[in-house]
Amino acid sequence: MSVPAIGFVGLGRMGTPMATRLAAAGYALQVADAVPAAVAAFLVAQPGAALLDLSEQDPLDELDILIVMLPDSNIVEAVLEEGGLAGRLRRGALVIDMSSSEPLRTTSLAQRLGGLGLRLIDAPVSGGVRGAIAGTLSTMVGGAGADLDEARPVLEHLAATVIHVGEVGSGHAAKALNNLVSATTVSVTVEALQTAARFGIDPAMMTEVLNSSSGRTNTSERKVAAFMLSGTFDSGFTLPLMSKDVSIAVDLAHRIGTPGDVSDAVAQQWRGIASFAARDADHTEMYRLIGASGSEERSARS
Ligand code: NAD
Repeated sequence: MSVPAIGFVGLGRMGTPMATRLAAAGYALQVADAVPAAVAAFLVAQPGAALLDLSEQDPLDELDILIVMLPDSNIVEAVLEEGGLAGRLRRGALVIDMSSSEPLRTTSLAQRLGGLGLRLIDAPVSGGVRGAIAGTLSTMVGGAGADLDEARPVLEHLAATVIHVGEVGSGHAAKALNNLVSATTVSVTVEALQTAARFGIDPAMMTEVLNSSSGRTNTSERKVAAFMLSGTFDSGFTLPLMSKDVSIAVDLAHRIGTPGDVSDAVAQQWRGIASFAARDADHTEMYRLIGASGSEERSARS
């Protein structure tokens, strides 16, 4: 197959560096976002790319692949369906949902798109904004092997690791479960640091202990000093998005009959804090929000 023409929707914290890498790799790219300034900035930086106008209804026959990198399933479905892009793509086009969406909704969406002659794979990512810039993300893919084969050369510009998890939806399931584990390590690490501090152990010292002991995690190694103790809280992954992922994982567990006490408690904690945190609060702000009553934050927002 010749080099595919790609549509890319969602030029946010992750989407912009990912689309930038595809433009740099020489793909014919059409880009879209709900925020016109995000699109304008992208087109200035990548003059070879073109606008994909979401408000139009003209056919997009030239696109072979449509990548969406959007906040959640609601938005993915709204962009594709309800008079959206799915009806404009040519039959046989491949849709890749790289957002962290809801697995069971992805399965249903794939069936509905299949009815239009479209193929869908889910390829959510891990590795954060830094990984998106460097092209070192991990992607966990759900869908038909032949569809992944077609997508793989594109995905390999974005990710250093491509794992075919299973059927469509299983990438999104694996991603949510990964983030449940990741959020749990944030929660428990922050709580341990708070207890250490109350006991008189400096959090930096406690982090050094964790990182040289069996409590070491990605959180202790890569998040505590860099984003929490530094006070920068700028990992690039928001607290509401992490809370959404934890809820996706826990909802899935409940729906398929594997609920767990720890998972439920973590979901409740993240949902509670997300309810009063700023919409753009970084997820590493859990360091100062766990244990906060929320009244200060609520009054800051109102
Ligand atoms: P973001 O909020 O920075 O970007 C989302 C983009 O989608 C924004 O530019 C927004 O304007 C656009 N958008 C929203 N509604 C739209 C619509 N109706 N039509 C067109 N565009 C619309 O989010 P992000 O951090 O880039 O995350 C995107 C996805 O990737 C999420 O599902 C998130 O959970 C996941 N993710 C994020 C990270 C991270 O570190 N930020 C890491 C892995 C996965």
